[in-house]
Amino acid sequence: IESLMKLIPLPAFSDNYIWMLHDGRRAMVVDPGDAQPVLDALQIEGLQLESIVVTHHHVDHTGGVAELRDATGAQVYGPAGEEMPEPLTRLSGGDVCNTLGLSFQVFDVPGHTAGHIAFYCEAWDGAPLLFCGDTLFSAGCGRLFEGTPAQMLASLDTLSALPDATRVCCTHEYTLSNLKFALAVEPDNQELQQYNAQCVALRAQNLPTLPSSMALERKINPFLRSRIPAVMAAAQAHDAAMALQSGAFATLRQWKNDYR
Ligand code: ZN
Ligand code: FE
Repeated sequence: IESLMKLIPLPAFSDNYIWMLHDGRRAMVVDPGDAQPVLDALQIEGLQLESIVVTHHHVDHTGGVAELRDATGAQVYGPAGEEMPEPLTRLSGGDVCNTLGLSFQVFDVPGHTAGHIAFYCEAWDGAPLLFCGDTLFSAGCGRLFEGTPAQMLASLDTLSALPDATRVCCTHEYTLSNLKFALAVEPDNQELQQYNAQCVALRAQNLPTLPSSMALERKINPFLRSRIPAVMAAAQAHDAAMALQSGAFATLRQWKNDYR
């Protein structure tokens, strides 16, 4: 049954993906900021929505939850520590979320928001699966709205420790703009150059660059590479005082905030 399941990024707004996993009969969705793309997919595929999982409280991730719950009776799972559309099952690090016959481990990944969580399934269709919301993006990471650089770095370390084959399902198609920044940090990284060319080609056809893989992210994502000499040197060259005082990761995050 597992191999018949499908993983689909439903585009929403200008650059969100609502990830849908389904077995041809039952479905789960992640971070439905808008109900309509999900309702359309359910109808086209003839699916029953079993569960809605939410990583954090931002409206582009929660805006469709109440409407979907009312329309389908789906179970809602979300972070224990954030304001959420009630009722829901509240989860935090160490909890398990069982749905569609799969078991998702919950990680606390504060930084983008204070109570942000991620969902990790050890084996689905031969490889692990990660729904990481706005914590980890391909070639980037979320902005620090409610957390410190140290918290975000620890959260990214948790995710970065996952197996190579882990499929990384992020909530935004930010890959090309993240890659522009990543190439400014590491212009000589050949894997980064190759991946950029691949992603440019995908986006030219309006195809998603996601899911990524953890093996790839460790090779190209500057925010997972802040302890690598070339990345530390780039942070230092960008802002020596901040790199000295706050470290390479905080410097990279600030540099990215200001980068155009
Ligand atoms: Zn967000
Ligand atoms: Fe978002």
